[in-house]
Amino acid sequence: MPELPEVQTVVNGLTDKIVGLKIKDVWTDYNSKYYLGKKSIKDPKFFRKFKKEIVGAKVVEVQRRAKNILIFLDNQKVILVHLKMTGHFLFGKYTFNKKEKTYIPEGGFVDPKKLKKDKNLQKQVLEKPLTDPFNKFIHFVIDFEKYQLTLSDMRKFASVTLLDKNEIPEIFRKTGPEIFDLSKKDFLKIFENKKGKIKTVFMNPEVVAGIGNIYSDEILWEIGVHPESEVSKIPEEKFGEMLAVSKKILKKSIASGGDSMSDFRNIEGKKGKFQNSHKAYKLEKTKCQKKNCCGIIEKKQIGQRIGRFCKKHQIKY
Ligand SMILES: [Zn+2]
Repeated sequence: MPELPEVQTVVNGLTDKIVGLKIKDVWTDYNSKYYLGKKSIKDPKFFRKFKKEIVGAKVVEVQRRAKNILIFLDNQKVILVHLKMTGHFLFGKYTFNKKEKTYIPEGGFVDPKKLKKDKNLQKQVLEKPLTDPFNKFIHFVIDFEKYQLTLSDMRKFASVTLLDKNEIPEIFRKTGPEIFDLSKKDFLKIFENKKGKIKTVFMNPEVVAGIGNIYSDEILWEIGVHPESEVSKIPEEKFGEMLAVSKKILKKSIASGGDSMSDFRNIEGKKGKFQNSHKAYKLEKTKCQKKNCCGIIEKKQIGQRIGRFCKKHQIKY
């Protein structure tokens, strides 16, 4: 699932491509009984209302809050998107294909069976990532006339809704603060009365926004704190270090276009590179890369998630 740097990468891409563009049309084939009566485009009735409100409006700004994407329109409305497990936006030239009943990029999608065997096709897909069959699960499209913004979502877990601008504070009332906004003092205060294992507490979206499995593993590895450390026993100065390292690692990942160890793609369909900088995440059974540490990375279930860490240099408080 995309975490803060991946969502920020998408927001940066959208800011570059869609701000100033006018919405000509909008399309979806999401339709789920489970969402009937809910404020989701997966309810066809809501989608009709959604369409009426946004067609003709212009995009004025794109922001990230936690792992959410907010597309601000010039009519005080905001399109709120959560990519969830497999959702990713793609920006380019698409046309609606009546036979397939979906949107197809220029050049069409490459046949996945042929792609496996054909090196030339693999090269073509690297140059024109929108034609990658990985991106063909299109369930939502904003049509900007010359270009289209499509949402490919293989598992159909992504969510899209519409808000009034003034509803935003209420929607995010329970969402934890943004790491980049925090001072050392704020950060200490957040963990002051918390109980539990540091990895679990750190990943709780009501405690801090946008931190998931990858970045919690990487940050704790870097500062030498065992993920099962009890929050109340960790020395104060470690929290100062944790905040500084969090900002450093998240910035580094944003600069490298996010982490594509799993499904993440940017809006051009390209992979990020942060997976090449991992020190702990998915590196179990490999040698710890910390200087002068000869530990081995191991994995263990911590709370509901699997944590990766080095027992040798990560101290359990
Ligand atoms: Zn180590």
